[in-house]
This record gives sequence, C-alpha cells and structure tokens, in this order.
Amino acid sequence: MGKNNKYKKEPNFSIKMDFEYGISKSLGNKIRRIIANNPSNFTLYGTGTYIIGEGEVAIIDPGPDDDLHINAIAKELEKEKITHIFVTHTHKDHSPAAKKLHKLTKAPIYGFGKHPKNFNKELSFVEEGIDYDFSPTINIKDNEIFKGKNWTIRAIHTPGHTSNHICYELIEERVLFSGDHLMGWSTTVIVPPDGNMSDYLESLNKLLNFSFNICWPTHGPPIQNVANFIKSIIKHRIRREKQILKTLEEKDNITEIVKVLYKDKDPALYPAASLSTLAHLISLVKKGQVISDKKITLSSKFKIV
Ligand SMILES: [Zn+2]
Repeated sequence: MGKNNKYKKEPNFSIKMDFEYGISKSLGNKIRRIIANNPSNFTLYGTGTYIIGEGEVAIIDPGPDDDLHINAIAKELEKEKITHIFVTHTHKDHSPAAKKLHKLTKAPIYGFGKHPKNFNKELSFVEEGIDYDFSPTINIKDNEIFKGKNWTIRAIHTPGHTSNHICYELIEERVLFSGDHLMGWSTTVIVPPDGNMSDYLESLNKLLNFSFNICWPTHGPPIQNVANFIKSIIKHRIRREKQILKTLEEKDNITEIVKVLYKDKDPALYPAASLSTLAHLISLVKKGQVISDKKITLSSKFKIV
C-alpha cells in the first residue's frame, strides 16, 4: 500500500505483460513483470508480480487473490517451472495469491512469518488490507541467500511499512525489489502499531549499505538513482518530524497538526496523513522528546518535553 498523491488511472487498463517500462529490454529476459488488474490509490496501475529467471523461475509478490491474475502468471509460465514464491509482506495486494500458486506448483512460499496480531480497533479500517491468512512454508531470515537456476536472491529484512517486510536483491544484476518499502510515485504508508517509523528509517539506512543499479517497487515505475532516492526519503521524514515538533508548540492533537501541515493538500489525504503523523509521534515519544496524556492513539494529546 502506498499513499498516492499523483494517482492517475491508466486508460484502457487490462491484464497484460508489463513491458512498457522497458524491463525486458534493460535486463534481458531475466526479469519479467505481470500487473494485476487492481489499480487503486494504493497500488497505482496494480500489483506488479515479478518473475526472475528463465526455465526455473522465482516469483516475487504473487499478488491479490484474483484468479485472472493467477491464471495470467500460470499461462506465462506454462512451459517453465516456479521453484520459489517470495513475498515482501502481508498486505492483500501482495501475498494472497501465494496460496493458490503453491497449490498449483508445489513451490515453497518464502516470507518473514505471519502478520502479527496486534489489532487496534481505532485503526480497523486499515486492517481490511491485511492478509492474516498468509503463512509461509519457509520462514526466511535477514540476509539469507537463495540460489536458483542462474540467479541468486538475497532477502533484506526492512521493517517499517510492516514489521515483516522483506526487500529482495537479485544479486547478479544488483536489482532491488523493494515491495512497498520504496515507491517512486508515492510515500510509503506507516500504520502503527505494526508499522513503525523508527524501524522504517533504520531500514532505509540499512539499504544504503548496498549498491543497487535500479530498484523495482511492487507498484509503479522503477527508481533509477537508488541511493539518492533513499537519502531524499530520509530527509523528507526528518523534515516532517521537525515540522511536527514545531507545530506542537501551538497544537496538541493529531487532527490539528494535520490541518496545519497538510493545509495545501486534498483533505481526502488527511486520514493517511493522520496515520503517518501518529507514527512520527510514537517515535518522538519513544525518543523522549514528546509526552502523551494516555496510551498513544489518534485522539491522544501531546506535549513537547
Ligand atoms: Zn503494503
């Protein structure tokens, strides 16, 4: 899921092989992408399911529980074999198709555990997007390496968007598959309590230890200058945190803070902006810079220490 500021529905959208971003040309036939027909504010043109390799392939993010999409993957690979199903995280636009693909192909499902049950009533509208049914057949660890036919993939644990978020690197090409951790067209939504702003920033910094040629998010176009892009996101989040601290001199609650900080933005974005502000405030309270009047929720009152 991402928070889209520039969403434009692609005209005449239909399920198709996604070569419009030149993926097959720039990287040979090693990487393919099939886009699911689930365009939205959170998925842009839809979920991009990646196919790595030829003959014996890995899948990254099988996508939503949509038979048309699953059949499109099966059809593309009818003369090939899926050996690995990798999942970046447990949101319904990323993981549910893993189950049916596993049934069809017997390929193991790799993921960083189930989605933790830390249900928060106040945020129940977000819970709808969570795939609580997901269960990997193989639990992966940070920095674990997987070898396939002519490809090697490294798992990089990147908590923040969700606590079980994994980015994958195709080592031979130094290509990063960033799931929802990095998106070129949108800000990643951090929804507490499972989403965590401090973890998110740490995970961004962690990626700076690598050197990637290009990054392909699960939704939308590629990110070319990966390190610069990551640095700009870190800067943006730090700036936002400073703005929140400044606004706290006058305002003491999230609704008011959001009205000030997002005054130029469409009010339709306010619910997502409130979540992001909440995530920042949780992190500020943890760092001891802010206190809250009660257990931190959207309706808490905050004060600078
Ligand atoms: Zn997501």
